[in-house]
Amino acid sequence: MKKFGLLGKNISYSFSPTLHNKIFELYNFEAEYKIYDVEDEGSIEGFLKSMKEDNILGLNITIPYKTIILKFVDELSSEVKDIGAANCIKFSKNKITAYNTDYFGLIKTFEKMGLYLKNKKVIILGSGGAAKACIKALIDLNAIVYTVSRNPEKTKMNLLNCFTISYEELLETSGYLIINATPVGTFPNTEISPVSSDVLQNFDFALDLIYNPKETLFLKFAHSKNKKIENGFCMLVSQGVKSEEIWNDVELNYEKIYDELVDEIYK
Ligand code: NAP
Repeated sequence: MKKFGLLGKNISYSFSPTLHNKIFELYNFEAEYKIYDVEDEGSIEGFLKSMKEDNILGLNITIPYKTIILKFVDELSSEVKDIGAANCIKFSKNKITAYNTDYFGLIKTFEKMGLYLKNKKVIILGSGGAAKACIKALIDLNAIVYTVSRNPEKTKMNLLNCFTISYEELLETSGYLIINATPVGTFPNTEISPVSSDVLQNFDFALDLIYNPKETLFLKFAHSKNKKIENGFCMLVSQGVKSEEIWNDVELNYEKIYDELVDEIYK
């Protein structure tokens, strides 16, 4: 039996076991996917050692360990080097390699939305790990990126084609795509949006990385202004599918897995 899992803190709510068990079922993989709730970062080194001894093949990493995990791995994939965070590690004979499959999940989401991003202006709300994966994906697709922060001076990034602005400056800004990479609007606090309805008027597309609820207030605002919208479910599924592809060295049918899960979760 192949062993996989999710490392994080307070993660009993996670959707990941459902996602990975669906992949095992569809592809007849003899495998298990367990939740590993680890209290503090001081326990991570010992935890990884015990995982190695238990012959685990791969782990997803979630909040709050996506950055600290880099201290304990032997090799970083190219996207992890640029983003500075990983959400997936693979155990091989003599090494642990870190990947960022959120990056691949975002590229898949942009494809699903039918976006053509070259030289297009994209606004990202927030400056956490998910925003950093967005920046890397968008810069690689030759977009021009603006991040919006509550503390723009503090979070400014020195990257070509990436600028940081305040929420006041956002009011005077328009563009092709706006992405909510903040947790604002997540269940159960669904009555709030990181920006007002007027801001959404200035964009063609709106993407919210949140997938619960299915349509956040941010997306409702965009929808009511006839903008094309997408939530974070495609990203969630495709980062999980990409993790399985890396761990098992196989290619999987993302659409088939997405279709099975979307019906199950939003029924
Ligand atoms: P994070 O590290 O906590 O960062 C979120 C950023 O949002 C912060 O850096 C902050 O930026 C801003 N922010 C936080 N609280 C805010 C508030 N009350 N008002 C306005 N801005 C606020 O989180 P993350 O890991 O980047 O995740 C962000 C979101 O993406 C979460 O909802 C997460 O669930 C979602 N996500 C989804 C997927 C998926 O597969 N669909 C994957 C990863 C993450 P400033 O301080 O600069 O304003």
